[in-house]
Amino acid sequence: MLVTVDKFAGFCWGVVRAIDFAEKELRTSTKMYSLGDVIHNASEVNRLAKLGLETITVEDFEKIPKGSKVLIRAHGEPPSTYQKAVTFGIELVDATCPVVTKVQERIKKFVDKNYQVVIFGKKDHAEVIGLRGVTGDKAIVILSLTEALEKVDLSKPTVLFSQTTMDKETFASIAFALKEKVKELVIGTIEDEAVEFHAKDTICGQVSGREKKLREFAGSNDVVIFTAGKKSSNGKVLFSVAKEENSRTYFVESKEEIDFTWFQGAETIGITGATSTPQWVMEEMKSVLDNHFEKIKVL
Ligand code: SF4
Repeated sequence: MLVTVDKFAGFCWGVVRAIDFAEKELRTSTKMYSLGDVIHNASEVNRLAKLGLETITVEDFEKIPKGSKVLIRAHGEPPSTYQKAVTFGIELVDATCPVVTKVQERIKKFVDKNYQVVIFGKKDHAEVIGLRGVTGDKAIVILSLTEALEKVDLSKPTVLFSQTTMDKETFASIAFALKEKVKELVIGTIEDEAVEFHAKDTICGQVSGREKKLREFAGSNDVVIFTAGKKSSNGKVLFSVAKEENSRTYFVESKEEIDFTWFQGAETIGITGATSTPQWVMEEMKSVLDNHFEKIKVL
């Protein structure tokens, strides 16, 4: 049995950067807080918790000691979080992914110009909560064209942005269909120039570029183990891509969830994951599988 770890899977640079911020801080201190899980991956959260990183919410600001350091993860936060930190004497360590910061800044520019802001994304996803915050929670968040047509005022100048981890094709189809209906529609990008209507968007290249390579990897293995945190939005998108390419793709959060009956008749197993999956988690799964098949060989 050949077990391979996908060399293109693993943390995106935005997440690596956020973890670096935390690790750097925890080299000289035993305690730091993170606003929400620093990453949607329980194994990595547990590893960082052992170093002293505790997950909290904004509501906890009043309970933790003044002067505490609180990490803002890659997803970013709404402006209200920054104000609240000042109120409670909290020191924020801002690890918002620069791509997300750029999207927030761009949205703000359109808000200032009185545009109706529409965001293709999940209303309660941490990144979208941050983006909504920039609009004073006036942004219209949609997941489909039907929802857009119900909620968007077609007569207003409108800008359409996307959460950075959404599916590119769905975004493009919504954008093109809306273009026909809305009087003035602009597609939000991270470039500063005024944008004419085109296919560009704010979907992160780390996510969209990943799909092609993932399809190749999934298609070249008999069985695929896809590992990510169950809460990972990017994990769900990429899992469905892998599953589409190879129906024998299984989602697991931890090595304990692996079911060895999945591998009957297979000769190659590929282990892959989301942009929030640590490399060491995939390597650990490879060891579990290698040991299992080595034992069977001996028997
Ligand atoms: S997926 Fe892209 S936008 Fe999101 S944290 Fe990673 S690098 Fe940043």
